Amino acid sequence: MKPLIFDMLPEEYPLCGQPAYRKKQIAEWLYKNRAETFDEMKNLPSAFKSELDASLSISLPKIIREQRSDETRLATFKWLWQMQDGALVESVLIPASPALYGETADRRTLCVSTQVGCAYGCHFCASGLGGWKRDLTAGEIVAQVLAAEKHSGEKIQNLVFMGMGEPLANFDALLRSLQIINAPWGIGIGARHLTVSTCGLAPKIKMLAESPLQIGLAISLHGATNEVRSQLMPINKKHPLEELVSACVFYQEKKGRLITFEFILIDGLNDTPEQASKLTEICRRVDAKINIIPCNPVEGLPWRKPPEDKIERFCETMQKRGLRVTLRKEKGGNIDAACGQLRLKEETNIKAFTI
Ligand code: SAH
Repeated sequence: MKPLIFDMLPEEYPLCGQPAYRKKQIAEWLYKNRAETFDEMKNLPSAFKSELDASLSISLPKIIREQRSDETRLATFKWLWQMQDGALVESVLIPASPALYGETADRRTLCVSTQVGCAYGCHFCASGLGGWKRDLTAGEIVAQVLAAEKHSGEKIQNLVFMGMGEPLANFDALLRSLQIINAPWGIGIGARHLTVSTCGLAPKIKMLAESPLQIGLAISLHGATNEVRSQLMPINKKHPLEELVSACVFYQEKKGRLITFEFILIDGLNDTPEQASKLTEICRRVDAKINIIPCNPVEGLPWRKPPEDKIERFCETMQKRGLRVTLRKEKGGNIDAACGQLRLKEETNIKAFTI
């Protein structure tokens, strides 16, 4: 299998004896003109194009399935992609999250995957059910954005690393993909429109804080005490809340950006008044906003969302205390747009087929 050209920074493109300005030309073909073959790169000599083609792949992931939902004003798309080695990952294009980008954002947000499967096994999440298979390369992350722009016909304005996998566990590829996605010669999405979401790898949050880009951080919190959080997320035993919260404070000091806490509400588990007041305490320490997500049911998992009135009460308790709370409307629930769900179905179908 040939390495992807999207894995590389322009200074790393092979020159095969050509002058250095060819690197800029190649980047323009890839990211401005969106060439899909080396052959299209008209201002490159043919022999050079053949040499590039012999050593590098330029192919975007193949669509295995596209699902579209029109239940919201702006449609929601979900794609299941197949990588060169056959691995399946998902990207979702959803109406922009008001929690991350404000109510005025009349735009969509693309959510990309960073790994095939996930090693962290959060108990509510479909991605972890099959375990971790491999990391995506930087180019495979970049290519999801290019493919989403191609298939939706629109320029991606906001990007969240909140699809399948744990971005901070694939740290080098994540940073490299961010660099390419942010660069003026690359996809050119501003750092303030990029958000990385993590299950709470505290040491890596600190490393990310030291990186140069002003990217946003979202934390999958889901429990406001160690007792509740550890029931849902095994990672909490390794990096408990105190450690996570101080890593967030550190991030904030370095970047000066508001942090978003994602909180999936699960009936009878983390929707109590006690959790609401503990969550309030955490948000005061970190200066965070909270995004409440009613739990999406995942086949094979027991968790359900609380009844509407309980969800509203939970949000109100915190709003009354002056916190910034948004309730994520369920977008794309009817197309299995929660993390890992589409792949899970596809793989189950494939299994059902091959048995
Ligand atoms: N590993 C990273 C990114 C992937 S999960 C992280 O943990 O943040 C990102 C998000 O997927 C979670 O925060 C949650 O918002 C969403 N998610 C996963 N399973 C879900 C479910 N069953 N219902 C609703 N949202 C879910």
